[in-house]
Amino acid sequence: MSLHLYNTLTRAKDAFIPADPRRVTMYVCGPTVYTRAHIGNARPPVVFDVLFRLLRRTYGADQVVYARNITDVEDKINKAAEALDPALPINDRIKAVTGKYEAFYLDDMAALGVLPPTIDPHATDHIAQMITLIERLIAHGNAYAADGHVLFNVPSFDGYGALSRRNRDDMIAGARVEVAPYKRDPADFVLWKPSTADQPGWDSPWGRGRPGWHIECSAMIEAHLGRSIDIHGGGQDLIFPHHENEIAQSVCANHAPLARYWLHNGFLSIDAEKMSKSLGNVLLVSEILAAGVKGETVRLALLSAHYRQPLDWNDQLVEQSKRTLDRLYGLLRGQDVTAAAEAPAAVVEALEDDLNTPLALAALARLADARDLAGLKAGATLLGLLQQDPDAWFQGGTGDSDLDADAIEARIAARAAAKQARDFKTADAIRDELKAAGVVLEDGPAGTVWRRA
Ligand code: AMP
Ligand code: ZN
Repeated sequence: MSLHLYNTLTRAKDAFIPADPRRVTMYVCGPTVYTRAHIGNARPPVVFDVLFRLLRRTYGADQVVYARNITDVEDKINKAAEALDPALPINDRIKAVTGKYEAFYLDDMAALGVLPPTIDPHATDHIAQMITLIERLIAHGNAYAADGHVLFNVPSFDGYGALSRRNRDDMIAGARVEVAPYKRDPADFVLWKPSTADQPGWDSPWGRGRPGWHIECSAMIEAHLGRSIDIHGGGQDLIFPHHENEIAQSVCANHAPLARYWLHNGFLSIDAEKMSKSLGNVLLVSEILAAGVKGETVRLALLSAHYRQPLDWNDQLVEQSKRTLDRLYGLLRGQDVTAAAEAPAAVVEALEDDLNTPLALAALARLADARDLAGLKAGATLLGLLQQDPDAWFQGGTGDSDLDADAIEARIAARAAAKQARDFKTADAIRDELKAAGVVLEDGPAGTVWRRA
């Protein structure tokens, strides 16, 4: 079996054949940096990180170019910046917001074992490319300037709607596009819009303004990956209008397909409810980690369902994921295991079948049952799991009130001395005292090991 991916464009599981195996290109729409990532936002970067790892394994680490952008110009960012000290210039306030939330985002992703992408282009570094792209669209008759805005003229592109397979009325309703007097067609969408003095803006042939969201990705893809790329990914809510609009812009500017494989992950719910601000159930990655759930546990939980299926986040899922990792780390603990040079075929084949992570995790469990620890480690690495030192896994603290490792070791030494002196009452008291502090002792042939409960 070779890699097959479900392609939203064809609605089929297609064999993946890169245009150039020496330069496999992938783009995933990244975060808008004005708020902290919630657990749903973590699903695309974790899922596409597994694909990144798989592609690197197949084509070579230097042959895969993965770009995940940072959207650092957007009206929601402006709103967050407005709340800061009005004495500061607006651009400084914007930078304060985007810099802070980008750093938070990268911290959260690192905690989940997400590899840094090859490139992380920032929208504000590509304004010139966006302007050039818009000029090309105007020259080709696909866009027009009106009232300080530039709009993409949807009826000028026959292929519009091919990705989402929506009809025109659905598209207009679904995009919730503004009805504006300067629009030639209700479906037309914004490429450029005017900025007031207290909004971020750049000089352009249409006056001082800022780009629409969709044009950012088209410009950054072309600048870093080329006019046509292999894989484009994101959450399924991006199929329409965002990805449909990216296609319209790039295809009309370049007369070439934007991406040949379009991948979309399903949505994550919380306790069977849609996550939303109005329901008050938005759960941040940072909150989950702060509550003592380890990053790898979060990662395993996110990979426990197939990426195209819905995934419900609940306590049971987290508990189950922790237990699975405790068991696997328990097997590795105290062993000197080097990962096998090749990931086991069962794991690779599961992932090559449209990233079937549940099947890959089942294969890991079988390797664990068979005590093939070298294979287990190699397979887990492809999934970004079992990357910690086993002792650190069990002994890593989860809260400020935890006893530190030195204190625990000192109590264990005191208990060993008490046992030596046949003072079992004291030895048992120390064990109970540690247990009350959340530390479990396990006596074995090599002495006493400990872990946090
Ligand atoms: P946003 O900040 O809303 O643009 O979302 C950033 C990324 O997270 C996009 O790729 C979305 O598709 C994805 N996303 C947002 N909410 C969820 C969710 N509940 N489940 C899965 N993916 C999501
Ligand atoms: Zn995008």
